[in-house]
Amino acid sequence: MLKLVRRPVAEFLDTEHQQSLKNRVESAQKLAADVTLTSVQKSSRIGSQWDNFRAGRTSKGTFAELWRELRNMSFEKCTFCETPSPGTAEHLEEKSKAPGRAFDWNNLLAACDTCNRTRENSGISTAPIDPSDVEPLDYFGWDEYGDLAPAPAHTKMVEDLRTMYGLHRFGNERRDRILVLRTILSAIVDDDAKNAETVNTLRVLLNGSRAWLGPVREYLLKPPTDEDALLVRGMLELLPEIRTLVEPWLRPPPWAPSWWR
Ligand SMILES: [Zn+2]
Repeated sequence: MLKLVRRPVAEFLDTEHQQSLKNRVESAQKLAADVTLTSVQKSSRIGSQWDNFRAGRTSKGTFAELWRELRNMSFEKCTFCETPSPGTAEHLEEKSKAPGRAFDWNNLLAACDTCNRTRENSGISTAPIDPSDVEPLDYFGWDEYGDLAPAPAHTKMVEDLRTMYGLHRFGNERRDRILVLRTILSAIVDDDAKNAETVNTLRVLLNGSRAWLGPVREYLLKPPTDEDALLVRGMLELLPEIRTLVEPWLRPPPWAPSWWR
């Protein structure tokens, strides 16, 4: 999971699509407030409203614009497991439980079908962390096996997140990202910064659309040892252009080391 930045709808929807989204939001809120309907009826109605919206049968073209923005926002990856090509717009608060928020832009994130399905079957009702709202590294990092490592204050929430989306997946891949990164940084700092192939491998690894950059971000912002910190700083001195490459997704929080600010 990376830190994401959610743009307000006015920045990417034209006025016509803004209005049609507003109409959807209002009609969903009306449905949610309707005391004559049971929660099962509301859930079923909001389900069909959403399906029609997503398929473009209502508010033609508005969902397509939202979807494009959701994908851009998450670097064309699933927000949760960080695999490329997300297939679904995920509701942070499920539309069956919060029908009034089904069309709320702030309630949507891009996810892959596996994460989406795993959540549906998980039976967990905790709302997931929204990385466009909070700094995910305040909640968890990754351990030496590539598994989620909760911050002490957020153990339960992070355990739920892991179970809900099956985030034990890709542990080896996430671990390998760090092993490879460390090897490349060592090579670069040990005076190989002029080796075009090594530098190119680093550039590919640090591209925002690469899978599993969450642990890489943690490594760069919170190097686990003094030696790792020296590697990161050495790389920045030798290859200052790397700053520009990582800028879109690194987004150093206020606690980041001074060399990132
Ligand atoms: Zn996923």
